[in-house]
Amino acid sequence: MSIATIWVLAEVADGKPTTTSLELITQARALAGTVEAVAWGPATAEIAGALGEYGATTVRDIGDIGDALPGVPVAAAIAGAVSAGQGPDAILFPATYDGRDIAGRLSAKLDRPVLTNVVGLSDDGGLVSQHAIFGGTQVVTARFTGEGPGIFVVRAKSFAAEPSGGAAAAVVPLAGGETGATNTATVVARHVEERSGPKLDEADVVVSGGRGLGDKDSYAMVEELASLLKGAPGASRAIVDAGWVPYAYQVGQTGKTVKPTVYLACGISGATQHLVGMKNSKNIIAINKDQDAPIFTVADLGIVGDVHKVVPKLIEALKARG
Ligand SMILES: Cc1cc2nc3c(=O)[nH]c(=O)nc-3n(C[C@H](O)[C@H](O)[C@H](O)COP(=O)(O)OP(=O)(O)OC[C@H]3O[C@@H](n4cnc5c(N)ncnc54)[C@H](O)[C@@H]3O)c2cc1C
Repeated sequence: MSIATIWVLAEVADGKPTTTSLELITQARALAGTVEAVAWGPATAEIAGALGEYGATTVRDIGDIGDALPGVPVAAAIAGAVSAGQGPDAILFPATYDGRDIAGRLSAKLDRPVLTNVVGLSDDGGLVSQHAIFGGTQVVTARFTGEGPGIFVVRAKSFAAEPSGGAAAAVVPLAGGETGATNTATVVARHVEERSGPKLDEADVVVSGGRGLGDKDSYAMVEELASLLKGAPGASRAIVDAGWVPYAYQVGQTGKTVKPTVYLACGISGATQHLVGMKNSKNIIAINKDQDAPIFTVADLGIVGDVHKVVPKLIEALKARG
């Protein structure tokens, strides 16, 4: 193992580390001798158990940042540690809003590049990253050279989150760094998207709708089918751009990456930008009236038919089963 220490940005949602953070810790465990998490918030100690269970030995705790946007104080704290010679060999960031913000600011502070859109990480005498380009049709590899830690922004679902059974991570303070005049933006309101089923990127079943639905109202049958299957509804970008559903529903290159047991695509053509976000699903079912639609190239089960006939039949059959 040529990499001594990797830090992973651990984000928290609903009082728990996010799945993507745990995916990164799991992979870091396979690559480095020591894995540490970097976290912030009023109750970091409460997530130390979960972080340790997935392989982090230490949580570097930046503490409560109040209503500040995390980008500035977290990047400053990490940069401070690196400048003081206490930094790791590499830092992994989830490709979330805050992860990207912090990584970008850290990159500027350390005058190091940042490698984004990472879909794989391996040890080849140093950390090597894989990146999906051209809508996921090609993969390139990259590595950092020169002094200083590598900064990697990793896509969700690039790795599986697997517990290692480790003890709770030790919580160690990470001193705040120099923020200057940049730390003035504050969060004034938070809006939690209403959701009755599982989260799109964590659901075991995802039912997505595309332009083939014909109109906004027809999306209701996608939601109904998803609900009957205890899954989450998703969408292609075409219907997000058309304003039928919010952006949070979008699957694909510029939306969410999903890897459910079953992905059901209803009236979606299968553009590469959509496929890159769902093609690693375990079982893909596609309903499309065009037998030559590209979605069928990745489908395990293809139904050539009209969504307005097939989906209501599926709903009827599921309701009949009770
Ligand atoms: C930089 C960039 C990023 C992008 N990011 C994303 C992304 O993250 N996610 C994403 O999804 N797209 C993304 N796109 C857009 C992508 O290229 C496609 O335009 C989009 O995915 C098409 O959506 P669609 O399949 O719903 O629509 P269409 O391509 O219009 O396909 C509709 C399909 O429905 C079928 N159909 C029509 N009527 C019926 C019916 N009654 N029953 C059954 N089937 C029917 C048609 O045969 C067709 O295959 C991106 C594009 C760019 C350039």
